Amino acid sequence: MLAIRFLVLALLCYAGWYVIRGYRKKKQTSFIPDPDTDPQDVLVEDPVCHLLIPKHQAIRLRKNGVTYYFCSEQCCDEFAEKTKQGES
Ligand SMILES: [Zn+2]
Repeated sequence: MLAIRFLVLALLCYAGWYVIRGYRKKKQTSFIPDPDTDPQDVLVEDPVCHLLIPKHQAIRLRKNGVTYYFCSEQCCDEFAEKTKQGES
């Protein structure tokens, strides 16, 4: 009799654990950040040296409503210089 009780209890524990585990798994997958919305994980290309840099580390330059990203101030200056020549 005691053995059956123990078995039922064990089964209930297992079922409960299974539900919790499944719930956790579901929750985790829904919290994975979208690469398009998380700036930490997005790689951007430097238009001067074509290096890929994480967006949050890049140097930004906004020109004609477009944001450009650079690996260094040097590349940023070079790009600004180039685009200046081509404009007028
Ligand atoms: Zn660069």
